[in-house]
Amino acid sequence: MLLEIKGLGKTYGTGATATHAVGNVTFTVDEGEFVCVVGPSGCGKTTLLKCVAGLLRPSGGEVVLRGRLVTEPPDEMALVFQEYGRSLFPWTNVRNNVLLPLRHKRLPAAKRELVEDALAAVGLTPFIDHYPWQLSGGMQQRVAIARALAYQPSILLMDEPFASVDAQTRADLEDLVLRVREQYGITILFVTHDIDESVYRSDRIVVLTHAPTVVKDVLAVVLPSPRDQIATKELPEFTHLRAHVYRLIRREQQPAEQVLA
Ligand code: ADP
Ligand code: MG
Repeated sequence: MLLEIKGLGKTYGTGATATHAVGNVTFTVDEGEFVCVVGPSGCGKTTLLKCVAGLLRPSGGEVVLRGRLVTEPPDEMALVFQEYGRSLFPWTNVRNNVLLPLRHKRLPAAKRELVEDALAAVGLTPFIDHYPWQLSGGMQQRVAIARALAYQPSILLMDEPFASVDAQTRADLEDLVLRVREQYGITILFVTHDIDESVYRSDRIVVLTHAPTVVKDVLAVVLPSPRDQIATKELPEFTHLRAHVYRLIRREQQPAEQVLA
């Protein structure tokens, strides 16, 4: 077992103004697995991932990585956020954006080589001297992915990293992540509200309820690899699983919608 999330809860604030973002969430991630956590917007996915990353202290429960309690960001984890625009340094080029976060990390390989390899893996070698503002949104997100890869994590946490790019770019990035996962032999924990995305790429899907969040279901995704945007999405197993997850999530959204109505 690589990662265990045990009875994790997180409440923001206290008393009458408290927000119970994450109720009680338990699941595990095995070495080499691609696990997607899917749930409606506002259900506490970002909160959950920040607790897993050691950036936020849970109000209850624990996160255990290789048998050790996570109390601060572990060296073997890297995180890719949704807002790539804010995560890149605007004042320097692509190479330095990938290189600078490596300053404090002890690494066996030459850092320069790691940076060049990571940028090659995401197809950005020709743009190594460009500035972030000279790149499209999808390319900026590839810089953020290269930065995480160069860090040589054993586990990559991704928080809706493709939510703000167009559909074609998202499909390309999905395939890119599947490829680099093979190449780097990395474990991935990916949170998203996008059901198609989660079914297409993962080995297992953890379906969350609305806040205060608990795990509604954990589903194994049995689809052939390598996956293909057209062939995989035409398979009856894909459409069946996708419909199943949609139904689970829709049932979650109904109570909130009724309150609003
Ligand atoms: P998701 O990523 O699934 O959209 P979040 O984890 O961002 O959900 O938010 C879950 C709930 O916690 C929301 O009700 C949100 O308003 C609240 N929340 C998130 N961050 C904070 C914070 N720093 N302080 C107070 N409430 C927060
Ligand atoms: Mg979020």
